[in-house]
Amino acid sequence: MDVFQEKQLSVYFKRDDLIHPFISGNKWRKLKYVLHDAHQKNKTSLATFGGAFSNHLLAVACAGATFGFKTIGFVRGDELEIKNPVLRMCHLFGMRLIFIARNEYRDKEVLYAKYFKHDDSIYFVPEGGSCLEALPGVAEIIDELTESYDHIFTASGTGGTLAGLAVGVASKALKTQVHGIAVIKGGDYLNQEIQKWIAHTPYTLHTDFHRGGYAKTDHELVLFTRNFARHTGIVIEPIYTAKMLMGVMQLSRDDYFKPGSKILCIHTGGVWGGIGLAF
Ligand SMILES: *Cc1c(COP(=O)(O)O)cnc(C)c1O
Repeated sequence: MDVFQEKQLSVYFKRDDLIHPFISGNKWRKLKYVLHDAHQKNKTSLATFGGAFSNHLLAVACAGATFGFKTIGFVRGDELEIKNPVLRMCHLFGMRLIFIARNEYRDKEVLYAKYFKHDDSIYFVPEGGSCLEALPGVAEIIDELTESYDHIFTASGTGGTLAGLAVGVASKALKTQVHGIAVIKGGDYLNQEIQKWIAHTPYTLHTDFHRGGYAKTDHELVLFTRNFARHTGIVIEPIYTAKMLMGVMQLSRDDYFKPGSKILCIHTGGVWGGIGLAF
């Protein structure tokens, strides 16, 4: 992309989308030690939450099928409204889908208790898969790097991936700065969540590149997503990775980076979730 050349930046793309076709990208990273924990606690089912296009639901459905857990997915919205490829795949992997009206969906703990309070065989995975147990799996991204970078970027929905990357960088005492591009409006509140997991580990969250809010798209974003595929052969989706890349481009234009900087952007996967929206 021209702006990177113009500003003398070297930008790299880590293909975490290639980890697995359904347990994709950061969802695989986050689930890894969560599933270990569930297994150790002798749980036989996983229950979790997600929107109708949730990459997380799909990842849990497939991971459950792969590693021998039954799965239950609470889906935000009305069953009759939402028939889409993501939920169809969840169903194919054997996930039991429970549809929850939007006004009821807010308090996950209450909802979970309403259905499964007395069932000890179920392991509760938070929405998006972000929790303390998820961080070491994400930190392993840093272990895999064979070069050093000045900056690493991820898209941030809950901030779990950002927190895990920060942990990975801190544990190796690297100088790399870890950044998240918030894909939701009012992303500052993510800092509270993130700091519950990592109180003193440095990271930067950019909250000005959400382009209207979660899953909101606009012509420029869709065009960018499309052109990216056409010019690279790599599919990204508009909700996370495309927004992140457009954020990094804007920061580059604004001279946020020193000339000569090496920047790693993570393709966090999730192409399934984006397909229904973008094209
Ligand atoms: C879920 C998801 C994210 C958000 O990750 P968080 O850990 O919730 O910040 C980013 N990219 C993709 C493709 C996702 O599916």
